Amino acid sequence: MVQKAEKIWFDGELVNWDDAQVHVLTHTLHYGAGVFEGIRAYATVDGKSAVFRLREHVVRLFDSAKILGITIPFTIEQIHDAIIETLKVNGLKEGYIRPLVFIGDGAMGVHPGANPIRVCIATWPWGAYLGEEALEKGIRVKTSSFNRHHVNSMMTKSKACGNYVNSILAKVEAVKDGYDEALMLDTQGYVSEATGENIFIVKNGVIKTTPLTSVLPGITRASLMKVATDLGYEVVEQLFTRDELYVADEAFFCGTAAEVTPICEVDNRTIGEGKRGEVGTLLQKEYFNAVKGGNAKYTDWLDYYEI
Ligand code: PMP
Repeated sequence: MVQKAEKIWFDGELVNWDDAQVHVLTHTLHYGAGVFEGIRAYATVDGKSAVFRLREHVVRLFDSAKILGITIPFTIEQIHDAIIETLKVNGLKEGYIRPLVFIGDGAMGVHPGANPIRVCIATWPWGAYLGEEALEKGIRVKTSSFNRHHVNSMMTKSKACGNYVNSILAKVEAVKDGYDEALMLDTQGYVSEATGENIFIVKNGVIKTTPLTSVLPGITRASLMKVATDLGYEVVEQLFTRDELYVADEAFFCGTAAEVTPICEVDNRTIGEGKRGEVGTLLQKEYFNAVKGGNAKYTDWLDYYEI
């Protein structure tokens, strides 16, 4: 259950959590054409708080909307400021932020006509997405029977609500089968991403991640690539197959919610030593340090605020 905060920002105003309601004929509820973001704020080492890469997330929200042909009736600056305002009014020193842009009610049928574009921003406290233990011990993963979207059927660069039907199918199947997360292949059979995370593998000290073909351009992915490069690692973006993953020395998922989660098993095969690997451990440590303002090199990724 999501832990309620006091207020939700809704179409430019702060309303009580329980009053942030919509009509059942809300267009997006029927057809899935809406876009959203997942952002985290962390308590920083100096006793303040900071949102991690807020601007990049807000820009991606606007890009996602543009891809779907949706015009957000606010500016990037307004949404940026509204996010900070919502965190502050809810007294959240750290937590998760969920902006959502959706098509309201009015016309029905697939064409949304002139229905209003509505925007809300909810915030709530949220711990480790795949569980605290997963960050240390890693997770068990199964290749999904569902492919990730073909790049010309759903727009994979858009964090579109409807895209997540595919994620739900895969996640529910994986959990029912006794695994923690699903690995999704693209329609050519190459490794794509998980239901809400990008993937990295490590082999002989070289770090590899999938190129931005069928995957969401993850902000955590980009951050880890930068951190790894700064640490002197070679990082390559290249398609790879599931059997290359099977024989990797290490593998991990990353995303705003999942942060850096080691993969200890794929399709009942142990990955490396079956635990958080050396590179994964280091990158996870550096990532948590960066998001908490512990590394001066990355403080321009942070939008500080005080409660
Ligand atoms: N892929 C998918 C499908 C996702 O939903 C997410 C989470 N937004 C990611 C990758 C990782 O993106 P980010 O690091 O920006 O959270």
